[in-house]
Amino acid sequence: MKLHTKLYLFFAGIVLLPLLVVTVAASAVLGRSGSETYEGRLQSGLAAASAIVSAQAQVLSGDFQVVLGRADSGTLLSGDETRRALVINSILAETGAVGLVIQDPSGAVVTRAGTAFSAAGAPADGTSSSSSTGTGEAGDATPLIVSTARLARPDGALWRLTLLHSFNIEALEKVFDAQGLEWGLLVDGVVKSGSLPAGDEIQDSAGEPVQIIDRTAPMGALPVTIGGQEKLASALLLPRDITEGQTSLFAAVPAATVGAASRQALLVGLALMAGVALTAGVLGLLLARNITRPLRQLTSAAAAGIEGDLGRQVEVTSHDEVGNLASSFGLMQTSLRDYIAELEESRTQLLLALSYAGEILGSTSDRARMMKTTAEAARLATSASGIWVDLFASKRSPVRSGVFTGVPSHFFDDAFKRQVTMLAERVAADNTSAGEVLDFGPNYEAVAYPLVHERQALGAMVAVFGRGQSTKESRHILGSLAAQAASAVENVNFGEMQQLLATTDPMTSLFNFRYLCNYLDKEISKSRRYGRQLSIAILDLDDFKTVNDTYGHQAGDDLLRAVGEVLTGQVRASDIVARYGGEEFSVVFPETSKADAMKVVEKLRSGIEQIRLPAYPEVRITTSIGVSSFPVDGGDKTDLLVSADAALYQAKESGKNRSFSA
Ligand code: GH3
Ligand code: MG
Ligand code: MG
Repeated sequence: MKLHTKLYLFFAGIVLLPLLVVTVAASAVLGRSGSETYEGRLQSGLAAASAIVSAQAQVLSGDFQVVLGRADSGTLLSGDETRRALVINSILAETGAVGLVIQDPSGAVVTRAGTAFSAAGAPADGTSSSSSTGTGEAGDATPLIVSTARLARPDGALWRLTLLHSFNIEALEKVFDAQGLEWGLLVDGVVKSGSLPAGDEIQDSAGEPVQIIDRTAPMGALPVTIGGQEKLASALLLPRDITEGQTSLFAAVPAATVGAASRQALLVGLALMAGVALTAGVLGLLLARNITRPLRQLTSAAAAGIEGDLGRQVEVTSHDEVGNLASSFGLMQTSLRDYIAELEESRTQLLLALSYAGEILGSTSDRARMMKTTAEAARLATSASGIWVDLFASKRSPVRSGVFTGVPSHFFDDAFKRQVTMLAERVAADNTSAGEVLDFGPNYEAVAYPLVHERQALGAMVAVFGRGQSTKESRHILGSLAAQAASAVENVNFGEMQQLLATTDPMTSLFNFRYLCNYLDKEISKSRRYGRQLSIAILDLDDFKTVNDTYGHQAGDDLLRAVGEVLTGQVRASDIVARYGGEEFSVVFPETSKADAMKVVEKLRSGIEQIRLPAYPEVRITTSIGVSSFPVDGGDKTDLLVSADAALYQAKESGKNRSFSA
């Protein structure tokens, strides 16, 4: 599952789920809110109406007392009906009441007058006894507000006067209209006036009449049926002392209206919740996207990195953990790029060093070229400012030789050279080849590598760097180049040795017969080209077999070496001496006439005669020599050799220890 989805689900879990629960709970509450709203309205409507009625009753009662105080109470309580009627009429007129009832102390109605009674068809002067309600039938048609007063007759009997008023319907109507309620004044549970149709009975859900009994506070809202219509209703029994009969204030609202209000509230609530949920959802989505965007960028940058593109930027848009991750990733990319660049550079250097190494190893016949190549390779393959390759003196190359590149030779004074030599010898003895950093003034450092072969210090390679500039990689490259150079030196030495073996006789160190033949060929053609003479001598020791037989082979060998030394010691540098066969030698005299050659061979013959071996003092040896010359005795090597051999034969034949020319 994607992180984006996970985050979103997490967000949904902590925000949307609780929101859903709240929505469900709220919808239950809102579902009831319609009935609660109307219940409240019913209560407050009734309370307000009741207050109006009480206030009206209080005002009327006050007015009644005032008017009564001014009225002729004697006449009012007398038996004179006519005069009493006049007083009553004036009271009614002054108070605006609709009726007045006078009762004697027994409660019997003495008189009743006013429109309340005439409207009900009762005689204005009716004398009928009062009912238990006390004021008679006047309230059947219209509920009335009553104000009572007591007046004392001269005999002390207290008569009761009850003034009847109409309800201030207009005021009540306003109150209930303002609340959007239907209303009515009920007398004994039957609607008498108000917005509800008069005569309707209030029934409960079972169809029974609802008893609105002695309640002074509004009763709780009830589902009722009025005139076949279902309604939610409440009622309030008005105080008995201010009303005629059992009068109630009644307020109702159609059940359909309550239901619609509930549904509307529910719908509004649900719409609000849906709006909040949608907003939260979108916010969650944006949040999840916002959080995961840098992660997505990181992922794609990492994937690009795997493909080799380390330049893909990741925006750092925040300072949180993700932001830190993005900036660390950026740093990692940079250091990786640098690292790769370094690697590529060192790879290039390595390739260069490798190609040079091949060349170094290839220089098997040329010591100087090998040294120069090594120095160049070492400098190009590293960041060294200069290289010195130093070959110590040896049997093969008796002179110490060095090449420099990048730095002049005076950089390395004798003291430093001694230091390097000692290092190389020490390292060779330790059988290691590690480079060693040597002190080289304040601005430079020198890393020296011995050229070691089989524990022998052949030379050294010294690289000069700016102080602190020699890196591990460059030291590594220099180490392997030094090893290659040591092998190359050894190869040169080996090549030279092979060359020597191919052309010399190991016992006497004189040239061998093969070399002699090659040399003769070259020299004869040179002499031919330049019209010069050339002479050749073949020497055969006399009775050599006897030396072997008498003193042993070792004595014979010593003698052969001694003869070689005499011959090489007495000829010119341009002449060459070769061992021709077992106890036969040959000397080639380029640019030499036969006569001159004869003089030299005589010296040679005499020299050989003088030989004394320290180990074998009694040994004596002589030699016979045959000489031939180019071009007089032959035009080529074979002819010359045959001629010389023939002369030698003559020398032997004529008694040995002498020289003959062809
Ligand atoms: P002549 O005066 O006729 O030349 O007699 P010679 O004895 O010198 O000649 P010969 O050809 O009879 O003998 C040559 C001897 O040289 C035979 C051989 O054993 C010996 N010889 C050849 N090469 C070597 C060598 O390398 N060392 C030793 N010690 N003896 C050798
Ligand atoms: Mg011989
Ligand atoms: Mg011989």
